[in-house]
Amino acid sequence: MVGRIKNSCIFGCQSRVKLAWIWLLVVLICCGCGDYGINGNEKEPARRIDTAMGTVISQTLYGEGKEEASVGVLQEITALEQNVLSWRLDTSRIYEINVNAKKGQGSMISPDMEEILQECLQVSEASRGAFDITIGEVVRLWDIDTWAGRADTENYPIPTQDDLQKALYNSGYEKIKLQDNILSMPQNLQLDLGAVGKGIALDRVRAYLQEREDISGGVISVGGSILTHGKKQSSETWKVAIVNPRDTSAYLGYLALNGGWCVSTSGDYERYVEVDGIRYHHIIDPATGYPAQSGVKSVTVLSESGLLSDALSTACLILGEEKGMTLAEQFGAEALFVDEAGEITMTDGMKAYFHLSK
Ligand code: AMP
Ligand code: MG
Repeated sequence: MVGRIKNSCIFGCQSRVKLAWIWLLVVLICCGCGDYGINGNEKEPARRIDTAMGTVISQTLYGEGKEEASVGVLQEITALEQNVLSWRLDTSRIYEINVNAKKGQGSMISPDMEEILQECLQVSEASRGAFDITIGEVVRLWDIDTWAGRADTENYPIPTQDDLQKALYNSGYEKIKLQDNILSMPQNLQLDLGAVGKGIALDRVRAYLQEREDISGGVISVGGSILTHGKKQSSETWKVAIVNPRDTSAYLGYLALNGGWCVSTSGDYERYVEVDGIRYHHIIDPATGYPAQSGVKSVTVLSESGLLSDALSTACLILGEEKGMTLAEQFGAEALFVDEAGEITMTDGMKAYFHLSK
């Protein structure tokens, strides 16, 4: 279906948190969460909003253990950031892997980390390098996390072609070697899991909630990525809003979902700097070293895997509609694209879930 709509780091960045708050309000409205109840009431869900991973975490949980579980969910996400994924915190595994590489040393990795990296590499291969977790040095040159939302963007230092080419030359997912639990990579290669961190968090949260029999259902949002779990108190489906990339205080429509889904959205509106009418956003096309210009403004991907939904939404924004659609289908995922004219295109499977706003 093609519908026309008229008008229509990881980790630790304030502007990013601000944008995530605006976005979250839209999601809450669409999820029908206007009825902020007293959590003591059995039928009311526990609701909680926190910040972690440099973004907003919101939870709506049903079931006897809702209050305790909401604390547990936050702990899972915080631990994941601090111990595993952050490239900024010296307590994390990724940080350590990057430091070891700089010293010319390999790193021993756990089966969990190996699985994460293998899945990322599969998406890199299938997307012919559009998705690449070794693009960290180029991302750092653009430094959009620091500059997004600032008033003094006339001072924004646009990276030079030379610097970008040098950083691109150093990157490349095919340089990562994984063998016998050892990861090795060249000295100047740096891993950045910013494009999959929120999705991996959803996978962790789902595993945690599945262990708890005292939770009947809920919706967890980690920035732009959302997990639906179990059932609502009523027999309704969960409703996940899709933000209008042209007006982020409004939404284009929603997905009506049962439990067990992950939804991730990547967009050029999430974090960007505008200089002389040109928008420099946070998703980089490794083919050029510049922010992706595929004609797509946002991509929403639906998958049972959080990691895949997150990786594919980033990859699809770079690849554009046609190639992105093929990529998503290759991984059994559904995707919805919004282009610069506000036109919506989606995979056939997505049509069963998507409802256009009136
Ligand atoms: P997301 O919001 O999930 O689309 O992820 C965006 C983040 O992924 C950026 O802030 C970067 O940290 C990282 N990133 C940017 N470009 C790429 C790319 N081509 N491949 C993988 N990660 C990227
Ligand atoms: Mg992503």
